[in-house]
Amino acid sequence: MEAKAAQLRKLRPKGVVQLELGIGANNQMLKAPMMEMVSQFPYWFFITMNLAKEINILPTIRKRSLALKGDIARNLAQLKAASPNDDFAAKVSQTNTFNYENLVMQTQLNYSSYYSIYAQGGTAVKLTEEKPLPYDQQIKLFAQKVKEADHIVIGGASGLSAAGGGDFYYKDTPSFYKYFGKFAKKYGIKGDFAGMKYPWKTREEFWGYLATFLYTTQHAPVRQPYKDLKKIIGDKDYFFLTTNQDTQAIKEFPEDKVAEIQGDHRFFQYSQQCTDDVWDAVQPVEDMVKAMDDGTAIPTEMIPKCLHCGAEAFPWVRGYGNFLEGTRYHQEYAKISQYLEKNMNDGKILFIELGVGRMTPMFIQEPFWALTKNLPQAYDVMVNRDFQFLPQEIEDKGVAIKGDINQVLDDVLVELAK
Ligand SMILES: [Zn+2]
Repeated sequence: MEAKAAQLRKLRPKGVVQLELGIGANNQMLKAPMMEMVSQFPYWFFITMNLAKEINILPTIRKRSLALKGDIARNLAQLKAASPNDDFAAKVSQTNTFNYENLVMQTQLNYSSYYSIYAQGGTAVKLTEEKPLPYDQQIKLFAQKVKEADHIVIGGASGLSAAGGGDFYYKDTPSFYKYFGKFAKKYGIKGDFAGMKYPWKTREEFWGYLATFLYTTQHAPVRQPYKDLKKIIGDKDYFFLTTNQDTQAIKEFPEDKVAEIQGDHRFFQYSQQCTDDVWDAVQPVEDMVKAMDDGTAIPTEMIPKCLHCGAEAFPWVRGYGNFLEGTRYHQEYAKISQYLEKNMNDGKILFIELGVGRMTPMFIQEPFWALTKNLPQAYDVMVNRDFQFLPQEIEDKGVAIKGDINQVLDDVLVELAK
């Protein structure tokens, strides 16, 4: 044992890939300790080859793991047949069930390698050298592609919700004062996210602020761009993928047509991820806001705590802490994966990317680019207030429109009505 431990310590800083083959989902003798090691060593990677029902990856290593579902012998044969320079994992996962999350993981790697380019407002992807079409022609093209499409996949990011008036996240806008006025006055907070990072003196005040934040988004009416999108889609077949956690998409579209891959303000999770539970936050938040009244703190006993370990609950959203990538998270990804698998080779598919910022190109923008490039009948419309990125590889299969999303969608509706 000692020698083994010393051997492991030597491996610790290096890149190690663990390959788990056919061990049962809940095996505690081998599988659990293997994953525990990957969890502790940041340069390790976990590959599991197993039947779909036996795939069970520790939430903490999701980003450093890969699941190859299905018959092991067949998957190994495919790996062997693949040429050495190909991306083996991509090859095998393509022949299996399509998995949108794999696309995200691939672009995540790109993002990490070129972080400074993205942080400066750029993209690592080579862009077209052609001049963009005049705005009017871009709108005509957008409308024409909608008319021609058999399937429409919308990717809604932060700029989409901001365009409709949800502009209180980053700045002290009038809408921020409207909803968070008492906190702005008392603590000098400027913008919603700033409040989430404020050094609150008590947990009661933190929860007072958090409850206000969640209440605001949970009860906000559906904003105009979402209504316009519904009209633009009309009776076409569609799917709505979103990184927005503000529940706007599920207020306008049925839940089975929406994938919320970055979480949702309607739910709580345990902050320590000690269980897979994700549960309703709407009622508790309403009770907190009522109990707070004109004050800025909630009663101590209302702070939701874990029955198992006593740690506080947390909104089920990425960005503030331990986002739980558990069952519900995988259900969200499964929705978009299944939709694409079913429809991506069935006629014309139109991707519409709306308001992707520079911090998160890996969830919507770059996967849409990759899909557009690889699917012969795909087209990509990108709308952004700040950026106009049309990759060279899809310069004949896409249009990048720089403009206010609200205005662009209005103009497309006018064009469609002609
Ligand atoms: Zn717990």
